[in-house]
Amino acid sequence: MNIWNDKGHFINGVWTGAMGGTSVENPADRSTVATISAGTTTEVNAAVAAAKAALAGWMATSVAERAAVLAKVGAMLEERQDDFAKAITLEVGMPLKLAKMIQVGLPLQSFQNTARIADAFPFERKVGNSTVIQEAVGVVAAITPWNYPLHQIAAKVAPALAAGCTVVLKPADLAPLNALLLADLFEAAGAPAGIFNVVTGPGAKIGLHLATHPDVDMISFTGSTKTGAMLAREAASQIKRISLELGGKSAAVVLEDADLAKAVKATVNACFLNSGQTCSALTRLIVPQARKDEAVEIAREATRAFVLGNPLDPATRLGPVISHKQREGIRHLIQTAQNEGGTLVTGGADAPEGLDGGYYVKPTIFADVSPDATLAQEEVFGPVLAILTARDDDDAVAIANNSRYGLSGSVWAGSEERATAAARRIRTGQIEINGGRFNALAPFGGFKQSGYGRELGEFGIEEFVETKSLQF
Ligand code: ADP
Repeated sequence: MNIWNDKGHFINGVWTGAMGGTSVENPADRSTVATISAGTTTEVNAAVAAAKAALAGWMATSVAERAAVLAKVGAMLEERQDDFAKAITLEVGMPLKLAKMIQVGLPLQSFQNTARIADAFPFERKVGNSTVIQEAVGVVAAITPWNYPLHQIAAKVAPALAAGCTVVLKPADLAPLNALLLADLFEAAGAPAGIFNVVTGPGAKIGLHLATHPDVDMISFTGSTKTGAMLAREAASQIKRISLELGGKSAAVVLEDADLAKAVKATVNACFLNSGQTCSALTRLIVPQARKDEAVEIAREATRAFVLGNPLDPATRLGPVISHKQREGIRHLIQTAQNEGGTLVTGGADAPEGLDGGYYVKPTIFADVSPDATLAQEEVFGPVLAILTARDDDDAVAIANNSRYGLSGSVWAGSEERATAAARRIRTGQIEINGGRFNALAPFGGFKQSGYGRELGEFGIEEFVETKSLQF
């Protein structure tokens, strides 16, 4: 099934440049979904030149004009959401219904929300005898990963454009089709040429060339901590702005008076979502020592609902992981957890039966994981949950904070007050209290090695402005 006809790269409002060179693989059966262009530095240079040339004109437009472009793209995305969901299911492997709801639903909100709130952003304000202007930071290099590919793109592109920036996007090599489909929407929407450009190809070559290009004013990166750290070093040498959304090892903290069944089920669901390939996934479940056995049983039972299978099959709750390399890494960490004395509750490293064609991993849970064990410290990016125990609230908070990451988390308690008191002491960018819902207008980003910078809503626009004072 070929779902994309290669047209090259989207540069300066037209499709151009080298074609072919890379296949996009369906992780469910290893078939080729499409063939796309493996870009070169020539295309990156052309895209940056286009973004630079378009900058002054785009910055000079009114907020309302910029919001109108975003609203139009949002409306077109809504119309074509089934096509986008299908493409993302084929390239990422997330079950179709979930892909439509999350992989397309969230980016839709980013375009619609940003179009709606841009007008209220304080692009200009009076401070004494000064007019303080928050203007576009300039040309933005957006480098994005494959796990929620369109969400991560929209969370950068919509606010950057709202702020008056122009963008060159280098999407993930493993899941680039949604980015190309998005470029189609910008073309059909009649967006000004050069404000949004897409160049596809390998990260280490063209991603790096893009990020370090002297005409790029800011890098907005989502991906691994290793690549993020390397890009931060590169950015430092040019005093270039960079925002980083990196890994996580987020904890669900369940205090002793919490509704244990509700908390454990919600954590299992959050851990296994998208086969565990979620940077904010709750991958450590911290329960009171006295309630461990009960928690393990609830978790084991909840895992039964995660039926592995082809993501196009409506009965499937858990699709494959993205690639052979990813699966091998996950299996290795499962093996390590066993070697380090974790008790295997369900799942395991061996391949699930009858699913040889794709990169499937059994939903896996370990109990008796020590807070310093590899499984409690390393991001797995696969469907693997570690259950840990704590003596009391202080101990639970200390274990949650025993991580070099600080992206997300949740706290469950009998009262909102008790949960909030613990949440205030946990060093992460967002925390759900007793199952609080994801809020697409709330700032999203990390503490510690989960990165810096915030995305979404008003805070997302703030990432892409530079401040200037005019004195009168
Ligand atoms: P992941 O494991 O989530 O793929 P990566 O950090 O490897 O995380 O990739 C995230 C994005 O960064 C992808 O678009 C990838 O192509 C790109 N990338 C990978 N290596 C580099 C690099 N050396 N320089 C710039 N971008 C890179």
